[in-house]
Amino acid sequence: MDMQTSFLDRLFDAGLLIDTGVDGLYGRSGQFEDVIAAFERLIDRVGGGDGAEAMRFPPGMNRAFFEKSGYMKSFPQLAGTVHSFCGNELDHMSLLRCMEVGEEDWTRDQKATDIVLTPAACYPLYPTVARRGPIPAKGALYDLQSYCFRHEPSQDPARQQLFRMREYVCMGTEKHVTDFRQSWMDRGVAMMKEVGLEVTIDVANDPFFGRAGKMLANNQRDQDLKFELLIPITSVSKPTACMSFNYHQDAFGSKWGLNMEDGSVAHTACVGFGLERIALALFHTHGLDVADWPESVRKTLWG
Ligand code: ATP
Ligand code: ZN
Ligand code: MG
Repeated sequence: MDMQTSFLDRLFDAGLLIDTGVDGLYGRSGQFEDVIAAFERLIDRVGGGDGAEAMRFPPGMNRAFFEKSGYMKSFPQLAGTVHSFCGNELDHMSLLRCMEVGEEDWTRDQKATDIVLTPAACYPLYPTVARRGPIPAKGALYDLQSYCFRHEPSQDPARQQLFRMREYVCMGTEKHVTDFRQSWMDRGVAMMKEVGLEVTIDVANDPFFGRAGKMLANNQRDQDLKFELLIPITSVSKPTACMSFNYHQDAFGSKWGLNMEDGSVAHTACVGFGLERIALALFHTHGLDVADWPESVRKTLWG
């Protein structure tokens, strides 16, 4: 038996995360949020000179765009849809009866709305940019942040069901977007070093569903399409991905009709910061009391 209090329990005890009774769904204290805000300001300082266009979408996206994205082909196990009661008064009475008896699932007659929970901050961006027309020859750069939903309940505080992702997305030529990705790998390592975090970078793959998914994952690895920046949070031997660096080749460009001014299909890449994971890595590494963090780290984050 593990007699040590888990990191999650220590975060609850310190009040940094607030238990809701659901694994992976937590409230956050003012202190926890202040760390995320400070780290986002660091991101702004590092990326601010690149001229990215900022956009903020709510944590739900247009269901039609979600369907077109192919998310249900690759990650059906992670998706979350928004369903609502759409019945009449009679339906309402049987709904209440059903809830009272508690034998049947009262949500069964709910209908899917036009909204799906956003699975990654960049998903609403591609159809938005496609609607605007061709991408300028010099490429395009976007700055995004969104709460994201993934149905992966876990008692690992670093694996949440609703969490925030800050992203930069680049669209342009292959050279353009692969240079963008490389520059953020270098910047990411430097930023984490500045806040006193031990990092490694490794090739990675997404959790594509099922047997066919194994092949997609292998292919993604073989072609170096995804890298992760890893920091120890709950385990030193299995550090946690706190950033990811994804090159989509022209897959999203073709899917969404993202074309360059010369008519060629745009390549795209995105770089994501897992904001809760970075905050957790800081608390894990430097302690649960921010007042005790190394002076250099405090200075980087709060000036
Ligand atoms: P993992 O392999 O740990 O599941 P991922 O490959 O699914 O991570 P991405 O899809 O690349 O992660 O998402 C971008 C970033 O969002 C990740 O690098 C991570 O920091 C963060 N992230 C992903 N899933 C979660 C989660 N369930 N809880 C908190 N942060 C997450
Ligand atoms: Zn993305
Ligand atoms: Mg994952």
